[in-house]
Amino acid sequence: MRLDDARALLDRDVSLAPTGRAETALEYLQRVIDGLCELSLKDPLTGLANRRHFRAVLDRTIDMVARSGEPALLLMVDIDHFKHVNDTHGHPAGDLVLLAVAQTLAKCVRPMDTVARYGGEEFAVVLPNCHTFFGVTVAERIRQSIHNMAVPIASGQTINVTVSIGGAYAPEWVRSTEALWTERADVQLYRAKHEGRNRVILDTQQEIFVSAEEKNMLFGHLAQGEPAWIEAVSGDAAALAAGQRVN
Ligand code: GH3
Ligand code: MG
Ligand code: MG
Repeated sequence: MRLDDARALLDRDVSLAPTGRAETALEYLQRVIDGLCELSLKDPLTGLANRRHFRAVLDRTIDMVARSGEPALLLMVDIDHFKHVNDTHGHPAGDLVLLAVAQTLAKCVRPMDTVARYGGEEFAVVLPNCHTFFGVTVAERIRQSIHNMAVPIASGQTINVTVSIGGAYAPEWVRSTEALWTERADVQLYRAKHEGRNRVILDTQQEIFVSAEEKNMLFGHLAQGEPAWIEAVSGDAAALAAGQRVN
């Protein structure tokens, strides 16, 4: 619909939309807007959140963690040897596997969690308010469920896949960035691949490792001699500023 068409609809307040029932122009426009919003947030193949939506959720979660200190976990989930699935069974069969993995992922998490298609055969799961024991349980549940899943790709033919999972907690009380947090989870995913695949490796350390960039975001202004409130920070923060671990 063009902008002029939308104006004309609003002027007449009667929709010409093919809905089969009378619909006000405002209702129709709202429906168009809702449809566009959904298109811009969802991955078309799996129906999961797309990467753009994932980034927005991650940003929101970082804000929440920095404010409340509640732990939040990011899992990166990558299908093992997926190229082999395409090469052996064809691209459409690969698509069926992607869909099945997406559905299983969605079933393994809470309604408050976000499952996204991060790219190709890689998925991301954001779990706010997620304590260490729960994080390990969920990640292992995902791995096991996909391991046990037989995906029908043709009549009488199923295939099995596995996933490797890497995870990292957002540093509590520190304003991180989406890129830094993702990178931390990716490091663990790389380890899971390197150590044999079909496994979960989470960075569950309670110590806060603060990168140079994060340290600068937190304490950069100290170097410029401001502001006064920072003088009241705890010994932990001072240790962070000095580049030490905090337990
Ligand atoms: P690894 O265990 O190291 O992750 O190996 P891999 O084969 O899974 O990883 P690699 O990056 O070599 O291959 C990923 C493949 O995923 C290659 C690409 O063609 C395929 N792929 C990406 N997007 C799609 C898609 O939407 N549909 C299908 N069917 N295949 C896709
Ligand atoms: Mg892969
Ligand atoms: Mg990959």
